[in-house]
Amino acid sequence: MPRPIVAQIHPDAVAHNLAQARRHTSDARLWAVIKANAYGHGIERVWPGLLAADGMAMLDLAEAERVRALGWRGPILLLEGAFEARDLELCSRLNLWHVVHCDEQIAWLAAHKTHQPHRVFLKMNSGMNRLGFRGPALRSAWARLDALPQVDEISLVTHFSDADADRDGQDGIAWQLRAFVEATHDLPGERSLSNSAAILRHGGCPDVRADWVRAGILSYGSAPDFPAHDAAHWRLRPAMTLKSRLIATQDLQAGDSVGYGSAFRAPRAMRIGIVACGYADGYPRHAPGGHDGPGTPVLVDGLRSRTVGRVSMDMLAVDLTALPGAGIGSEVTLWGHGPRGSLLPIDEVARAAGTISYELMCALAPRVPVEVCDGATEPDR
Ligand SMILES: *Cc1c(COP(=O)(O)O)cnc(C)c1O
Repeated sequence: MPRPIVAQIHPDAVAHNLAQARRHTSDARLWAVIKANAYGHGIERVWPGLLAADGMAMLDLAEAERVRALGWRGPILLLEGAFEARDLELCSRLNLWHVVHCDEQIAWLAAHKTHQPHRVFLKMNSGMNRLGFRGPALRSAWARLDALPQVDEISLVTHFSDADADRDGQDGIAWQLRAFVEATHDLPGERSLSNSAAILRHGGCPDVRADWVRAGILSYGSAPDFPAHDAAHWRLRPAMTLKSRLIATQDLQAGDSVGYGSAFRAPRAMRIGIVACGYADGYPRHAPGGHDGPGTPVLVDGLRSRTVGRVSMDMLAVDLTALPGAGIGSEVTLWGHGPRGSLLPIDEVARAAGTISYELMCALAPRVPVEVCDGATEPDR
């Protein structure tokens, strides 16, 4: 028998989540952000769900090729544009729209031989200070692009650093929105500003949703502003379930320890279960095991419990004291959908482990077998 761990992918949840994004953004067009192999889900695996979007946004040229190979003839946007001059050949051949964020990319375009002018998204650095032009450099870049025969339409794009929260006592997008509108109000072209957090929290504002929104994490069913709001609040459904089974149980006396470093000691007699899941599967090793806190949430047979002790490479331990019915073979949900409609939000696991859902999804290890679930996940809650 194979090790009982499995990741289940739910394409229908992606379609549902993208439909939720549309509820917040009126008639703005919707990019599904599918970088990092669809946030670890696998582009091909969630593909039927992604078809609910108007365009596909990603970083990697090989991923763009995969999307064209799937038969997608709609818009594809490269969020960081070309990494070297010859990347533009693929952009011409596959009709990829691409971000332009630096002078070098403009020079590559100027030297590029193509019969088909490119649609470009000029990136403004509105304050995040990763990519893009600001101030007079933005105007100059726009004018240079406008003069190039290699360039067709110029759209404008920026990215929020704090869309999930407040910044200096104000909502976190106000300062960048102001900078963007000031810098671009007299430039023509379509605009794209919003990531998942901005879509859900500020999509009602026409300047924020603009012409295109970019739905990343929400597509996969995680709340971008957890714990302020959870996925249920935004009516999002998990697109990934990680589950396994108990492969052993142990009865502990008070003072007995669990796992490496004896990091957990039983305060009283208790029963624990050993789960076939460890950090080599992508479960976070830093998930706390309840030595001086509540541990990390898990479901056993759909009922809540918590981890105890350190996560090891292939195993972790869970408290079964309140679950007398649990034993070898019991189903353990590490995150996502559990039995009988139960649910463990990945956001809760990520928070306990001091990280974010994005990292957990992307870290799902190649050794974990993946199943695509075609059936519908739970109905709307
Ligand atoms: C990753 C990314 C997004 C999506 O962000 P989420 O928080 O996952 O919605 C949007 N825009 C850009 C430029 C990105 O790199």
